[in-house]
Amino acid sequence: MANVVSFDVEEHHRIEAAVGLEVGPELRAEYGARMERATRELLDHLARANALATFYVVGEIARTHPQLVRDIHAAGHEVGSHSFDHRRVHRFTPDTFRADLRASKGALEQATGAPVFGFRAPTFSVTRETAWAIDVLAEEGFEYDSSIFPVHHDRYGVPDAPRGPFLVTGRERELLELPPLTLRALGLNLPVAGGGYFRLFPLGFMKAGLRQAARAADRGPQVGMLYFHPWEFDPGQPRLPLARLARWRTYVGVTRTANRLARLLAAFPFRRAIDAARAIRASGADLPRFQLGA
Ligand SMILES: [Zn+2]
Repeated sequence: MANVVSFDVEEHHRIEAAVGLEVGPELRAEYGARMERATRELLDHLARANALATFYVVGEIARTHPQLVRDIHAAGHEVGSHSFDHRRVHRFTPDTFRADLRASKGALEQATGAPVFGFRAPTFSVTRETAWAIDVLAEEGFEYDSSIFPVHHDRYGVPDAPRGPFLVTGRERELLELPPLTLRALGLNLPVAGGGYFRLFPLGFMKAGLRQAARAADRGPQVGMLYFHPWEFDPGQPRLPLARLARWRTYVGVTRTANRLARLLAAFPFRRAIDAARAIRASGADLPRFQLGA
């Protein structure tokens, strides 16, 4: 059983809820500076807790903030890809997705001097419709993906996908999938890995998910995969002019996140996703297989 703290590193204006908003160059620059500051504070949190994490970084950030990406890597954390400029996989064809992956992987590797092994799609956008993305990821040398959320959600999700680590087949190629944590309760998979379950509900939901995964570890490898964003730890940031519901969903609970992360880091051991992936492979354990594409 391994737990993973992961951070999707993007400037705040790149979030899905803000797609289509006009964000001027000054505000973009401010979000860029705040992303760097918040990410450095997260590095300090992790260092104090003596914990290693995985950072899925937007490739463009390796061009605009190369020292930040180098410092994440130098602290011992994993640097994975969060696409080049945070477009959802649905916006690509297999060919343009491949080009985006190469641009992202290349920019990150140039910044750190180390290979990238893991991928997290913006807004968990590897779904039934984009199953071909798994083939492209496998062909481009990725060792694992962490983009398939086994939940019902208005914007993403593959509700019937396995909740623990599994081997996913896109069309033909197979890849190790480390899905974000869910809590099975009342016949539903609750997405307790992050988002509102981190900021809005009691932290007990997330902890219950981690404990449930630990209990399932006698039936096969388990990874308690959590996800956070630097902007979720920056309560002073200027707020985007989102519609009311999106605004509430985006900003609820941002003042309590730093304290909650510290409590999680104190309560559970965490390791990098790539280490969890390699331990699973080395164990020779039989993983569930799941066909994503037709
Ligand atoms: Zn993202």
